[in-house]
Amino acid sequence: MNGNGIIRLGRLELRVYDLEKSVDYYTNVIGLEVTARDENRVYLKAWDEYDHHSIILQKSDSAGMDHMGFKVKDVYELEKLEHKIEQFGCTLTRVPKGSRIAEGEAVRFQIPTGHMMELYTDMEFVGVKTGSVNPDPWPEGLKGIAPHRLDHALLTGDDLKTATRFFTEVLGFKQSERIISVDGEDLVGSFLSTTNKAHDLAFVKGPDAKFHHTGFYVDNWYEVLKAADILSKNEIQIEVTPTRHGITRGQTVYFFDPSGNRNEAFASGYMAYTDFPTITWTEDKIGTGIFYHRRELVESFNKALT
Ligand code: FE
Repeated sequence: MNGNGIIRLGRLELRVYDLEKSVDYYTNVIGLEVTARDENRVYLKAWDEYDHHSIILQKSDSAGMDHMGFKVKDVYELEKLEHKIEQFGCTLTRVPKGSRIAEGEAVRFQIPTGHMMELYTDMEFVGVKTGSVNPDPWPEGLKGIAPHRLDHALLTGDDLKTATRFFTEVLGFKQSERIISVDGEDLVGSFLSTTNKAHDLAFVKGPDAKFHHTGFYVDNWYEVLKAADILSKNEIQIEVTPTRHGITRGQTVYFFDPSGNRNEAFASGYMAYTDFPTITWTEDKIGTGIFYHRRELVESFNKALT
């Protein structure tokens, strides 16, 4: 949790074209479990997550991200955050309790890059199958990649300086890494953390309001390799086969859901405590920063956005 009471990334709502096809993919290939559904939305969680859901799939005629939701410690901290967000110049709306299954009230606002974010304190606790007394390390019957949790998301936007200022000054995130233009004038990548993880949210320079990917956490390098095996077995399009990120030092494989939303199985990454000194990459080394071994971006990296 950061000093402003934001505990973690709690949920992410994705727009998908075909709900049934998407549910099949997110349950059998990713390995999430469905916890609820209504006419236009399906709610899912990873096996190691104890709140009701972390991913919501919304049936839509466009792909992309509806919003990211961050869980806040209590109503007292949330009220303080609301005030700061409004002072920054963002308009808040309320998402009343009952708008979505198993959620309390949330506050919703648009950040300077045009993405929608929500803050909330209240989601139904459902626990994990291994329980919380003398638990086994994993439950029976896992399917697919079976990540532990929703880990982070990468978004694109134009004014990353303002976006970074919003997340650090208003919401209390810290910047773990940044990518700057060679002349040092422009910020073209910003990696932000509200926990001790290397990143919970990141931006790269690109069109406003677009979604680049969401990462699901797996244990280690072998699990990233196994994730790629599962993707090939299921004939899922892999964008970049298992490799290492220079930025975050995580291990990664990128691939696409049936609607073209990019997903990632992500492992490791360093710890970024509150006093972590921001790492700087220069744009001429962006290829190495993103894909440490090939040292150049793949063509689709900047283009395949939803
Ligand atoms: Fe990632």
